Amino acid sequence: MYFREGIRKNDPDVLAARLSALLDEESGLAYHRPKVAELLSDQELYDRDRGRVYVTADDKSLIESAGHYLIYGSEWLMCMLGHAGHEALRRRGVPTMLQLDLPLSAATVRERSQLAETLLQEWVRIKVNRPDWVPELDFTFCLRGDVPPEWLVGHYHPETVVDVHHSYIPRRTANPYCAHCRGAD
Ligand SMILES: [Zn+2]
Repeated sequence: MYFREGIRKNDPDVLAARLSALLDEESGLAYHRPKVAELLSDQELYDRDRGRVYVTADDKSLIESAGHYLIYGSEWLMCMLGHAGHEALRRRGVPTMLQLDLPLSAATVRERSQLAETLLQEWVRIKVNRPDWVPELDFTFCLRGDVPPEWLVGHYHPETVVDVHHSYIPRRTANPYCAHCRGAD
């Protein structure tokens, strides 16, 4: 789907519809409905990240330090469901790393400046420290629009992803194939 349609910016209305469908399908979450309704009425929470797409420069940091995006799929849904929804979210989908060729023109001047600073720091570290060691790069671009499919150049499914919400346990990807891998997309 991503290779056909790209990545859509965060739309809370679409996510709210998914949340509603999820609650219908997961009988175990029925008791949680009043709490979800209360959270949905919190406009600030509802609108968090509206219209945004976050893209990280380093897949290693995503797998080891922010694995919840891969394991649970949507931070917005996680916020609305809380811990009660973790098990249901883990059962859905396949942890997927989407690889982009991001045109730097899509980044803000501030992001480009911060990236230049980060790269300069890395250049200095290589010169004076350990050129054989690859650090985890914590660098994120915040895009304000959809990612067109032309920017997508690949994807893979990590074998294990660290779950930062559950004592940093490594979670093994049970079935590392998506519809695209199977040629069904
Ligand atoms: Zn796949």
